[in-house]
Amino acid sequence: MTELRYGGLLASICGELRLKEYIFKCPACGSVDCRDLPVPHASRSMVSDGKVISNPLRRGSCNDCGHGFHAQNFSEEQIKEIYSADYSIGLRDAVAEAARSAEYGRQIEAFLTHHLGKGGNFSKIIEFGCGSGTLLNDLTNRLGAQVATGVEPSSRVAAYARSIAGGRISIHEGFAEQFEESAHSYNLCLSVNVIEHTRNPHGFLQACRRVIDNTGNIIVVCPDGEIAGSELLFYDHLSNFTSASLAMIVAGVNLRMIANSPLTGGLQGFRIHLLRSGGGALDNQSRAFGFLSQQRAEYVNTWSRMQDAADRVLKGWKYGIFGTGEYSDLLHAYSPSVIENAEFFVRDQPVETNFYSKPVISTKDFLSFPKMPLIAAVHERSWPLVRDRFRSEDVPIFHSLEIARQDAMP
Ligand SMILES: [Zn+2]
Repeated sequence: MTELRYGGLLASICGELRLKEYIFKCPACGSVDCRDLPVPHASRSMVSDGKVISNPLRRGSCNDCGHGFHAQNFSEEQIKEIYSADYSIGLRDAVAEAARSAEYGRQIEAFLTHHLGKGGNFSKIIEFGCGSGTLLNDLTNRLGAQVATGVEPSSRVAAYARSIAGGRISIHEGFAEQFEESAHSYNLCLSVNVIEHTRNPHGFLQACRRVIDNTGNIIVVCPDGEIAGSELLFYDHLSNFTSASLAMIVAGVNLRMIANSPLTGGLQGFRIHLLRSGGGALDNQSRAFGFLSQQRAEYVNTWSRMQDAADRVLKGWKYGIFGTGEYSDLLHAYSPSVIENAEFFVRDQPVETNFYSKPVISTKDFLSFPKMPLIAAVHERSWPLVRDRFRSEDVPIFHSLEIARQDAMP
């Protein structure tokens, strides 16, 4: 049983030796009942900071626990290449980053208060993968921490975090797994959108367990893998967690999941988990996640058809693209002609004058021109709002997914 259970872990430890080995067992629960998802593009994939790499994204989806995973192993070198010094997520738009961090801070504090009451001790906190450090600054103030440590692998991002860190905060460059100082001395270890990037989630959680004292709390925020959406398209999201699959991994490193809850509002699509030391009885009832594998397959398949559909449908059109964020990067990676053939980008408050070598204009200016169609490059959760707003101004606007599905085109 043990071998089955830890098959994925062993495979990932041995990744360097068996680089191209195909993973056929779920790394979370060990099940062999896994489904191969379609490949979104035969030769291109996108990393979170928008960079395109020339590898197809092959993902598997476990029908038993719902875990999503790369169907091939990574070497440590490949991981280091993804997070090289120029990995710059979070530095592109400081204003948006600050607003987003404040919202994470608010929801994390509310979750902690809900589950721990007012009595939680947060005098020493540590954040693994602290990025720009904006959230750590926010939480240090919010929770009244006396000592705060941020650990960040990208040297460029760590340098930025250091430049904005408050007096009680120190920033260390490195990976969580290599952080050896101050064992068992923090009361709160948090990570926000980090664990899905780690090659070895078991090792990452062990690192979290190592830094907290025996009554300490661990907060893990990551994309909610129970929603089949754009998260599946990020090459550097090595795992897609359901609460069931994360609970399996958590139990495997002698932690237990105390609570979990979806985030709301602008952070919809993410889930927060509270973990503590000590094993516990795992709710072992088998869960059926075949439906999730099916939804994921349909979603990725839609993306795989987008380029051809766009070439056909948009032929001869002059159009702009609404949005210069993550979703535009996804289009650029998986359906590049949609970006190449656009005239310009539109966004509410442009922070850049050019994006993918096209001019960026404000919504206000766009609405003052003769009406031109727009392709919305916005997350599915924002789409209804964006659609209604532009259609009320008589602007024909379509979502890229609709083009691929061909269900709403004139
Ligand atoms: Zn599984």
